[in-house]
Amino acid sequence: MVQPAAVAHGGAGAGPERQPNIEAAVAKAAEILSSGGSAVEAAVESCVILEDDPVFNAGTGSVFRTDGSVLLDASIQTSDGKMGFVIAMENTPNPIRVAAELLDEGINGLTGGGARNWADERGFDRGPVEGRPPHDEVSDTVGVVTRDRTGAIACATSTGGCSNRPPGRVGDVPLPGCGFWVQEGIGVGATGIGEAITRALLSFRVADRAIGGDGLEESMRWALEETVEEGAEVGIIALGSEGPGIGLSNRPNMPWATWCADE
Ligand code: ASP
Repeated sequence: MVQPAAVAHGGAGAGPERQPNIEAAVAKAAEILSSGGSAVEAAVESCVILEDDPVFNAGTGSVFRTDGSVLLDASIQTSDGKMGFVIAMENTPNPIRVAAELLDEGINGLTGGGARNWADERGFDRGPVEGRPPHDEVSDTVGVVTRDRTGAIACATSTGGCSNRPPGRVGDVPLPGCGFWVQEGIGVGATGIGEAITRALLSFRVADRAIGGDGLEESMRWALEETVEEGAEVGIIALGSEGPGIGLSNRPNMPWATWCADE
């Protein structure tokens, strides 16, 4: 049996005061995984805690776009090759639940009004998402990577998008290989300036290097130093096939936490 584990972050620049909030999300994942729950279930329920927490730029606390709208992105991928992502969803307090429903569909992603209609047809919660005014370019989006007893890995990420972005903007969170990447034995989630993360194909590059034989932490450090353009605030969390997860950022302020069963 594999040791279950989880790692979560609250954004590359959210600050140490968010640490307890992240620990609460990791504790939820730990509870689910310890009782035999799946990596997907643990990642989703842990992410929902963070989406419901108004201090994070995801779900309820998402920042307004430049026109005052609140538009949410979320994604999930699993080590058995499934993925689901939603882009710019309105009136959806927990977009990660909609993304997770896509894991077993013949389509990977949905956007805008089409995503909301699809969610309505399946009875997903619809309701106003309050949101909050944008703040300076400080990343406080959320992400979770989990590993269950079977060794399956899942990564869930969710955001309202970086501050000061227009309504049609697509960030890294719903783009495979950019804000997330999972394959057998590894799961990676990124946070920070989505444009820089996307240009670096960051999550895929970390996974690819680690699978290629470099250590997980070394691969994360390499990716932050060598693939992310200078000046862009970016953080990464990752989980391999054993041991606890790792969080690393090019700023000192990324709250992250990990848990690993001791058996
Ligand atoms: N990466 C997210 C985005 O660009 C924002 C964040 O991580 O804070 O939408």
